[in-house]
Amino acid sequence: MPLYEYACRSCTKSFEEIRKYEERLSAPACPECGSPETVLRLSVPGFVGAGSAGRSGDLAPCGMPAGQGGCCGGQCMH
Ligand SMILES: [Zn+2]
Repeated sequence: MPLYEYACRSCTKSFEEIRKYEERLSAPACPECGSPETVLRLSVPGFVGAGSAGRSGDLAPCGMPAGQGGCCGGQCMH
């Protein structure tokens, strides 16, 4: 059976639990505080930092460094 990772909404503790695939959405109670408010954590590969998403905060749309005389600084020719 696969191993799933859950996160507790009450104490923010995360824990792993072996479940059947069909039962993965019926989250178990938190082993830490006993709260049933647990959610299945989706560990999707490439969700964070993949592709261009990781650089969007560094550069303006024209490619100039954002906040350093780029598009917003009035010196951009684009
Ligand atoms: Zn908890």
